[in-house]
Amino acid sequence: MALKLEPGTRLVVATHNPGKARELAEILDNRFTLVAAGDLGLAEPDETETTFVGNALLKARAAAEASGLVALADDSGLSVAALDGAPGIYSARWAGPGRDFAIAMAKVEERLEEAQARDMSAWFTSALAVAWPGGPAVVVEGRVDGTLTFPPRGDKGFGYDPIFIPDGHTQTFGEMEALQKDGMSHRARAFAKLKAALL
Ligand code: IMP
Repeated sequence: MALKLEPGTRLVVATHNPGKARELAEILDNRFTLVAAGDLGLAEPDETETTFVGNALLKARAAAEASGLVALADDSGLSVAALDGAPGIYSARWAGPGRDFAIAMAKVEERLEEAQARDMSAWFTSALAVAWPGGPAVVVEGRVDGTLTFPPRGDKGFGYDPIFIPDGHTQTFGEMEALQKDGMSHRARAFAKLKAALL
């Protein structure tokens, strides 16, 4: 593929979450100069697409066009098999305006009870997109499969981590050390694909 990112490239990261920007910089081995979309005053576009890949691309394209820089964006979430993939792209929205994931996790449990579901399988997805201003884009997706457990366990992670046990393990992502989670997470898998494509 002709699309390569040279070390030192200024990359605008289309996230308004400073923690995420830092995490992305570390995963990219600090090879690039990262600029946060928020610091450039870029507006957050509405996530109007119906897939993780679609929303990641939409955010990367919007940031590239608005800034004139190469842009990186992500979209991620939890999908539950017995809920036909919900909350999926609505994962953040299920936590309400206060971004309270105790509420979001309780909602997942309630929906599973309503559906009298026995199948507790679920997966996290991370889509990562890089877009060039006025030009092409690359998008990849990473996934980690697991099983849901209630009540939530552990306080080390974020979001839906306390109810998710990755396949082959007994601890939830909320109980694992960050390094252990990072070794197997959907985001790590998406980044490995992105690195293979662009570096
Ligand atoms: P995004 O910022 O639109 O990508 O929202 C993704 C949402 O999915 C987050 O707010 C989290 O609730 C959830 N999510 C994504 N990745 C993870 C993870 O690694 N652990 C727990 N929750 C996650």
